[in-house]
Amino acid sequence: MFQALLIDKDEAGYRSRLQSLESSRLPENDVTVQIAWSTLNYKDALAITGRAPVVRHFPMVPGIDFSGTVLESHHPAWRPGDQVVLNGWGVGETHWGGLAERARVKGDWLIRLPNTLTARQSMAIGTAGYTAMLCVLALEKHGIQPGDGEILVTGAHGGVGSVAIALLSALGYAVTASTGRTYESSYLNMLGARKLIDRAELSAPGKALGKERWAGVIDTVGSHTLANACASTRYGGAIAACGLAGGMDFPATVAPFILRGVTLYGIDSVMAPVSLRQQAWKRLERDLDKSRLGAMTSEISLADVPRVAEDLLAGRVRGRIVVNTTT
Ligand code: NDP
Repeated sequence: MFQALLIDKDEAGYRSRLQSLESSRLPENDVTVQIAWSTLNYKDALAITGRAPVVRHFPMVPGIDFSGTVLESHHPAWRPGDQVVLNGWGVGETHWGGLAERARVKGDWLIRLPNTLTARQSMAIGTAGYTAMLCVLALEKHGIQPGDGEILVTGAHGGVGSVAIALLSALGYAVTASTGRTYESSYLNMLGARKLIDRAELSAPGKALGKERWAGVIDTVGSHTLANACASTRYGGAIAACGLAGGMDFPATVAPFILRGVTLYGIDSVMAPVSLRQQAWKRLERDLDKSRLGAMTSEISLADVPRVAEDLLAGRVRGRIVVNTTT
């Protein structure tokens, strides 16, 4: 038997409940993992609350991330006792996921736990942190250097935003954090933000082109915020867009792209190739300050997950949440 959060949808409605399940109910696949830690991401909160159609079939164990130890393997890369991490690949959406004590997944989806990280730290980073790193890699690949000017990070208190600020500041970039919680400036300053702006400055419909301000942008919000960020990006600059916390629409014009040579990069963590994942995790090991990671992380149990999922979508959570699957 193992404990799992199970989402169900039928005539009785949409609900998620912690349950004890027979191991025989785990889906077919080649590697069984004893999960030590999972985490709560924005997408998990959407799945658990049913606020968006993340779950593709029912019943479903949510959780797009986990870290743990291989129990059984029919895959050549993995042996019992190996420490592994999983991010994405549709786990928690189309395949039973990480908010459980146990999972059975494709060996090709796993990566080895990075040497210098604990299983708990790997989930404190989780998909949110690994996506923040993918955004940083995109800006670097574009050629943006720390001396080039301000980098805007939107959704600053969120998981992606918090890790992005910590990474960029450690690399020497001048970060401006956009947030709805300017009253919590000490948290954002602790992560390394040099300036704060109120997210209301970006969230209303704006002009096709604004004053050139940002050398680069990491946007987790979408909608008018992304459109305004593009309109204020400097000539030749770039935006890494990964989120939709403010909306899925993109009410923009082509002006920044055709008049200022601005580039918009789309960032996807779910199906990113293994080589890019490994590069991102190596850089996270090197560039993410562990004490800042610790300071942005809070811990909950599996039983707490449904309540905290509501808090997360209501903007009452900051930073990252790890889920201890054994309590
Ligand atoms: P969080 O919930 O942790 O953070 C989102 C933050 O966005 C909030 O803390 C808040 O920051 C801000 N925010 C919330 N609502 C609004 C709003 N209506 N308008 C403007 N800002 C808002 O989420 P994550 O950081 O984990 O994820 C952020 C986004 O990135 C999500 O949309 C998620 O789905 C997406 N994502 C995409 C991935 C990919 O592969 N492309 C992978 C991971 C995440 P503040 O209070 O500071 O304003």
